[in-house]
Amino acid sequence: MANSRMLKGWRRYRSVPIIYRIGAAFVLGSLAGLTIGEPMLALQPLGDLFVRLLSMIVVPIVIFTLLMGVRHLTPSSLGRVGGQVVGLYVVTSAIAVGIGLAVANAINPGQGLTLVEAEIDTQQTPSFTEVFLGIVPENPINAMASGDILAVLFFVLVFGLALAMLQEESENARVQNGVETFFDVAEAGSEALFKIVWGIMEYGVLGVFVLMAAVFAEAGISALSTFALLAATLILGVALHISIVYLGAIIALLTQQSPISFLAGIKEAMVTALSIASSSATLPISMSNAEDNLRVDEGIYGFSLPLGATINMDGTGMYQGIVAVFAANLVGVSLTLTEQITVVTIAVLASIGTAGVPSAGLILLTLVLTQLGLPLEVVGFIAGIDPLLDRLRTMTNVTGDLAVTTLVAHWNGAVDFDDGVWASSESGPAGVPGDD
Ligand code: ASP
Repeated sequence: MANSRMLKGWRRYRSVPIIYRIGAAFVLGSLAGLTIGEPMLALQPLGDLFVRLLSMIVVPIVIFTLLMGVRHLTPSSLGRVGGQVVGLYVVTSAIAVGIGLAVANAINPGQGLTLVEAEIDTQQTPSFTEVFLGIVPENPINAMASGDILAVLFFVLVFGLALAMLQEESENARVQNGVETFFDVAEAGSEALFKIVWGIMEYGVLGVFVLMAAVFAEAGISALSTFALLAATLILGVALHISIVYLGAIIALLTQQSPISFLAGIKEAMVTALSIASSSATLPISMSNAEDNLRVDEGIYGFSLPLGATINMDGTGMYQGIVAVFAANLVGVSLTLTEQITVVTIAVLASIGTAGVPSAGLILLTLVLTQLGLPLEVVGFIAGIDPLLDRLRTMTNVTGDLAVTTLVAHWNGAVDFDDGVWASSESGPAGVPGDD
């Protein structure tokens, strides 16, 4: 009896679309963190488990999905798609930094605050030659083992293209079969991993609750009130960038689709990014949203999303611009136009060379501030609020990857706008794919 009641309760719980459950966990977790405070930190391992589960499947999902997508690509079509993806990533990032600077100049965060000495943990940002050479793995297995996404992408692309060429050219039936098997394994593997993604999301309800509780318990109201203006500047910048550039220009104007449908299609990825502050670990969810909801071909998203998680960081770039103005205000100087242009250049280039992991943007700041001759202590000063701001940056980064992916897929006839979230007038497919 009790058993059947429990089963019924569980069924009813599961019949609520996962995104609503995660959304509720997000809000309740944040409230629990603010009200209960420190004791919530004890639950942190339960939240870390969620991030670990997602991280566990990043490398395999990138490999399988890309391999499966490369099947229908030729080097020239890959070159075209690659050029469009990278071009759009750079342009949108530059616009984001510009918006960040404009909003910061208008709001002027940092005025009236006094810089307190704080410890800074500077880290060496890799040089551009290092980043460039790093794309080619010395040992592909090592790259996979260490989760070096750019290097994995490079190897899998080259290998996949060679397989596809072999399939066209070889007259040996065994080789033909072998190639076919590779692609079939990749297809089955990626489908299996997408199933795992949804299992992880089920756990994510608890994971997100705990992560949000921990972050608010740690940062708390005091950080929020001290840095309210800084946070407000970022929130405004992010809102403008998402609505003007992604929803307005990319989705409504260039892709001619409904921004609401787009948002409905990527909501799981956005909430996950907000909860875990890592675009790399959000990759499995972004890929799954691109596949199931946005109906983009894996030939495009299998390449553009992992690449975006590493090189495209509009939110992070924008943050560099905002903090540059913030730091200048703290010490009572103002940035010249040339300095602002320097910020755009460094922020775009530096965000390319940094992986999408928590606090990456904070480390990048040391580079931007050094270039401008502004005090590095600012980094330590704002470190308390960074875990909160990081989430907004990450959400913007992930949204940008998905917007650019949709546009490039549209340009290349690789998205089905009659299906998935585009076809339904409501807020997208309810529930979990494969749910019963
Ligand atoms: N956490 C961000 C990301 O993963 C990077 C940042 O710190 O801005 O995209």
